[in-house]
Amino acid sequence: MIKTKPLIVKLGGSVITDKRRKFSVRRAALRRLAGELAAAKEPLVIVHGGGSFGHPMASKYGIAGGYGDKRQLIGLSLTHRAMEKLNAHVVEALQRAGLPAMAVQPSACTTVIDGRIKSMELTPARKLLELGIVPVLYGDAVPDLSRGMGILSGDQLVVHLARELGASRIIVCVDVDGVYTANPKVRKSAKLIRTITPTSWPGIAEPISAAGGPDVTGGMANKVRELLALAEHAVEAEIINAAKPNILRRAVLGERGLGTMITMG
Ligand code: ADP
Repeated sequence: MIKTKPLIVKLGGSVITDKRRKFSVRRAALRRLAGELAAAKEPLVIVHGGGSFGHPMASKYGIAGGYGDKRQLIGLSLTHRAMEKLNAHVVEALQRAGLPAMAVQPSACTTVIDGRIKSMELTPARKLLELGIVPVLYGDAVPDLSRGMGILSGDQLVVHLARELGASRIIVCVDVDGVYTANPKVRKSAKLIRTITPTSWPGIAEPISAAGGPDVTGGMANKVRELLALAEHAVEAEIINAAKPNILRRAVLGERGLGTMITMG
C-alpha cells in the first residue's frame, strides 16, 4: 500500500513545448518546473501532454480517428516515438532537479475502447511509487480495442491515475491563469473563473467548448470535463498557470486558489 496519497501533476504541452514550432521543447521552463516540483513533500506522479511533439504527428496520420489505412501504422509508430522523445526531456529535467523519475509507457500497459481507458496495468507503477520513484507518464498513441488505434490524452490519464492510485489532489499546468469564460488568447475581455463545480459547469460550458483548440485531444473544455468526473469522487483539482514562475511550487506546497479549482462545490 502507498502510505501517503500521491499528488498528480500534469505538465501541459502548452507549458513544456512551443506549440507553434514542431518538436521544440521549452528547455528553460522545463528546468524551472522540475525545480519547483522538487519542493513537493508528498509522493509525486507526473503526466505530461504532447504539445508540439505528439499532436502534429497524430493529426497528420489521423490516429485519433482509428485505423482505416495501412499508412497509419508508421504514423502510430512515429507519434509514439515523438512522445518518447519529449518524455526523455521531461525525465532528464526531473533527474537533474534531484527527483528519481522513471518513464512508464502508457501504450505498453493500457488499452482503450473508443478512446476511453478500458484497462491499465498499474502494478509496476504502483510498486515504483511505493519505492519512492516518481513515475512519469504521458499522452500516447495506444491500441484501441474497437478502432484499432487511438490517442490517450494526458488529461484522461491523470483522472484515471488519480482514481487508481488514490491521489490526494491533481494539479493541471497550462500556460494561462486557469479556465476563462472564453479563450483568453483570443478574447481580451475573457474573465477568469475561480471555481467550477458539477452544478456550475452546464451554465458556463458552451462558450468554453466552442473555443476548441489546435490539439487532437480537445483543449480546455475537455480538461474540465475529465476533471469534473473526478470531483464527483471528491478528489479536487486545480488548473494553474505554470508558465509563471513559482505558481507550481506554491501549488505543490499546498496553496489553493492559484488558478481555477474544479471541486464538488
Ligand atoms: P495543454 O496542451 O497544455 O494541455 P491546451 O492547449 O489543450 O493545454 O489548453 C490550454 C490552452 O487552451 C490555452 O493556451 C488557451 O489558449 C486555450 N483555451 C481555449 N479556451 C480557453 C478557456 N476558456 N480558458 C482558458 N484557456 C482556453
